[in-house]
Amino acid sequence: MSLNKRLASLFQADAERITLWSKGRVGLYALLKALGVCSGDEIIVTGYTCVMVPSAPFFLGAVCRYVDIDPGTYNLNPALLDSAVSDRTRAIIVQHTYGIAQDMEPVLQWASKRGLPVIEDCCHAVGSRYRGKLCGTFGAGAFFSGQWNKPFSTGLGGMLVVNDQKLLNGVRSLYQTAANPSAIEDLRIRGQILAYRALVNPRTVMAITRFYRFLSGLGLAIGSSSSQELAGDMPRDYFKRMAPSQEKEGEGNLADISGLLEHRKMISALYSRRLPALGFGALKENRDSENVLLRYPVRVANKQEVLKEALRKGVEIGSWFEIPLHPFGTDMAKFGYQTGMCPHSEQACTEVVNLPTHAKISESEVSRILEFLKRLAHPA
Ligand SMILES: *Cc1c(COP(=O)(O)O)cnc(C)c1O
Repeated sequence: MSLNKRLASLFQADAERITLWSKGRVGLYALLKALGVCSGDEIIVTGYTCVMVPSAPFFLGAVCRYVDIDPGTYNLNPALLDSAVSDRTRAIIVQHTYGIAQDMEPVLQWASKRGLPVIEDCCHAVGSRYRGKLCGTFGAGAFFSGQWNKPFSTGLGGMLVVNDQKLLNGVRSLYQTAANPSAIEDLRIRGQILAYRALVNPRTVMAITRFYRFLSGLGLAIGSSSSQELAGDMPRDYFKRMAPSQEKEGEGNLADISGLLEHRKMISALYSRRLPALGFGALKENRDSENVLLRYPVRVANKQEVLKEALRKGVEIGSWFEIPLHPFGTDMAKFGYQTGMCPHSEQACTEVVNLPTHAKISESEVSRILEFLKRLAHPA
């Protein structure tokens, strides 16, 4: 079954509602463009995100207004929406951070009163539900990332599901104008996928990620973002479809998605059960959401030390997000973010590390990670 069809069956949508892109951000760009977003417009965004989210509207000439997070859920705090809206607002992007479902009801109500479309950033959230309904099915459209460390990999890549019928034609015709990756690029991506499979495991991932960033910085590997992009310049080959090798990888990884979702839930439950005994706060989940966590957030007082030691000892511990517009090195002012705009987000950036839940994490790996935290991390 093709990747489109597998996704369509997961979301119980027509396959024609799904388009496949070179990155998740490109799907977002297509959706915003289909909405008619242009110079001077404003987009409301969670102020705790990857810079590739605000860069998509930025490349269309729009600016972002950032809304701080609820420190308990890491998602946009709907009570703050009023302070971010203006008569130039054209859309609101909510992000189900770490796979924690955004409290959708107040957002949808607020947006519908103003006639604003809601877009869901599902780059962390495949399988999470809010009041029984799958994340990605609430707004005008939802975008997904197939980067290496996302819910399921397409070896870099992105997917867009369009729910709004009026937007669908626009997105489909934009898709027709997008470039196809060259045969050489497809081959290089295929090589990277094979290398990833052979080399990356929970003990090597920290070191290999560093090496991979180094190689892509030199232009020797296809990375997730160029320095040009982080500085706010649109790469020439930005608007591109997914390569065949990525589609094939995604297809394979989606084949047993329900098994993977169950595994992630099982591993998250282990963290929730065992972290409090070590003095760390477990994630508080509410009754409205049934979360499939991509990563499990934990607050520590000595984040940089924990990350450094994790790299040294080969323990898989991640850092989303390093700054409100991740990663370190982003020129945040260029994207309209000034320090102090989202204090809860800034605090989370200094405290939160995240723990993996993916298929290669076994119960004994969980023990190894928790043992590491017990020895080296101090609860925040
Ligand atoms: C990874 C990520 C993106 C961007 O996905 P790409 O496929 O790299 O474009 C967007 N939003 C969030 C929350 C992400 O983690």
